[in-house]
Amino acid sequence: SRQPDPDRVRTTCGYCGVGCALDVVVRDDRVAAVLPAPDGPVNRGHACVKGRFSYGYLTSAERLTEPLVRRNGALTPVSWDEAIGVVADGLRAAVEQGGPDAVAAISSARATNEENYLVQKFLRTVIGTNNVDNCSRLCHAPSAAGLTASFGRAGGTDPFDDVETADCFLVVGANPVEAHPVVGARLLQRALGGAALIVADPRAVGLARHADLHLRPRPGTNVALFHGLAHVLIAEGLTDPDFLRDRATGLDELTTLLTDYPPTRVAEITGVPAEDVTAAARLYGRAERPAVIYGLGVTEHLHGTDGVRTLANLPILRGAVGGTGHGFGISPLRGQNNVQGASDMGALPDLLPGYRRVTDPEARARAEAVWGRPVPPTPGLRIPEMFTAARESRLRALWVIGEDVCATDPDSRRVAEALDACPLVVVNELFLSETARHADVVLPVASWLEKDGTFVNFDRRFQRVRAAVRPPGMARTDFDVIQAVAAAMGSDLGCRTPADALSECGRAAPVFAGLSHARLDREGAVPWPCSSPDRAGEATLYAEEFATPDGRAHLSAAPYLPPGEEPDADYPLLLVTGRRWAHYNSGSMTRRGGNLLLDARGLLDLHPEDAARYGVRDGAPVTVDSRHGQARLIARVGPDLAPGQVFCAFHFPDEGVNSLTSEHADAVTSCPEYKVTAVRLRPT
Ligand code: SF4
Repeated sequence: SRQPDPDRVRTTCGYCGVGCALDVVVRDDRVAAVLPAPDGPVNRGHACVKGRFSYGYLTSAERLTEPLVRRNGALTPVSWDEAIGVVADGLRAAVEQGGPDAVAAISSARATNEENYLVQKFLRTVIGTNNVDNCSRLCHAPSAAGLTASFGRAGGTDPFDDVETADCFLVVGANPVEAHPVVGARLLQRALGGAALIVADPRAVGLARHADLHLRPRPGTNVALFHGLAHVLIAEGLTDPDFLRDRATGLDELTTLLTDYPPTRVAEITGVPAEDVTAAARLYGRAERPAVIYGLGVTEHLHGTDGVRTLANLPILRGAVGGTGHGFGISPLRGQNNVQGASDMGALPDLLPGYRRVTDPEARARAEAVWGRPVPPTPGLRIPEMFTAARESRLRALWVIGEDVCATDPDSRRVAEALDACPLVVVNELFLSETARHADVVLPVASWLEKDGTFVNFDRRFQRVRAAVRPPGMARTDFDVIQAVAAAMGSDLGCRTPADALSECGRAAPVFAGLSHARLDREGAVPWPCSSPDRAGEATLYAEEFATPDGRAHLSAAPYLPPGEEPDADYPLLLVTGRRWAHYNSGSMTRRGGNLLLDARGLLDLHPEDAARYGVRDGAPVTVDSRHGQARLIARVGPDLAPGQVFCAFHFPDEGVNSLTSEHADAVTSCPEYKVTAVRLRPT
């Protein structure tokens, strides 16, 4: 058993995508402490300030404890039977009036794999639509699309434990010291132990202080930087010709394109000195076992998928991917705890569980055989398209499960307009979030410390999630709620328990066929693909061949294109958004506990030159305006950003950071361009 002690419950952290195993100490059905599991497969006895200390929200007086239905304009407590009845009747009415595609659901990385599996099954088989999406749309959808196009599968290529043998790290658009601290600490250990470290990020993030090279590209210019690095690799013969001949494709087209990206031109576009581009390429190209690790600074751009693909060119050129023993490949640092799993489970409008296309008759036939119901063949709406459809009265019911879209989606005023235009909005939540305030029905649900299932971390490992305490009042798990709504609509989703759901998912998606709760209870963590109960999961991908149709890795020759917004006379600064160490995303959990004492207000980081230019003092209130909205923050003046760039997080929704961000989005995946917004500022 994984249970080390009768009053301790082994579970997996519900904050970031590292997937730390935690031992929750329970006294009288209350969490007394959360300890990092000494034998945690990923964390090995470590945890950060979020996983370890941020559980006070469980007993917050603000927890929702009973269902609420809007009556005469006010959210009013009702019984579960009444609330479920209102949801079922509302969904039925939406289908009658607008057809199945008038209904949509937004699922979540906060939900378990089994809950995500059930949500998409409910939409596809009970409602009859593919209108289901999850929050990866807002963060790592370009990773799924880009890595699939380059290599064939929507995940990182190698196990994180291989960082122990990597000798050079290229860390791009990520701040793991704050956002993924256990990963940040292991990378730091490797760098202090002698591995080369190149950090590419506009900010002087924590790792940059220990880097051999810190490249600071202007926000929105990643593709040019990656092409500059590739240019040097080819020009200086730092590639693997045998690998490129035998296992890759697209070299000629890329080589032609790269004649336009010598380091001198790349310097003009990105602001990174040409000699630093060359030096970084040489460090990466001459390493025995180089590793690429990246974050949302690569994906959350107008050309985010091109960013992922052109970054993936580097390990392909170097022959450092595909089990060659010459490197770690490439790994996306997933943001939320289960953003990988939510997509793995098929909570996506175009993909069934296991990333099988809804347009593929064979994939649909397999799912239909397991589910006993037809699967619609047309891809559904993505999250931004759902909001557009609601504003245009095409969407008549939206079910939001564990996402505070009014706080975390870009151009948030437009999101609120969409919710207000939709006849039925149902929200599953822990608290009366910004989004819940716009809902017609609010359903109180369990948090990650109150439910059972599994999560998938950033290096594709399934791990168990176990209930340490009971949810408060009448709150239920998302799993139970989805089952109840299906039953009220006369359907039986068939999975009685989360364990049943994972087993059924394995029948629908062969890459998960070897996974079960019982196996995870025995083994702790198992990576996918895992096709059989008696075979190990594939921690290193592509040892035989790549999973693309032709079995080869595909180089990308996408050209650099400018971001959606550039600074101008009216909005002369570029805003980058991200996260800070003590809080998580909208902060709904981390703000309701001790972590608030660590970090109590939203800060705007800016350079002393800009502070002087705009008359802003360190520690004083500052108003930030964009073409889309306004936010009020506290100025923090320092050298972490170049002049002309500012940074803030969105952990405090009242401050309105995501009213600033735009609807510009990646053309391939609709992932928003959170990392580049033109703004101006003034003292408040
Ligand atoms: Fe680990 Fe991330 Fe949780 Fe921190 S937030 S304990 S690094 S999983």
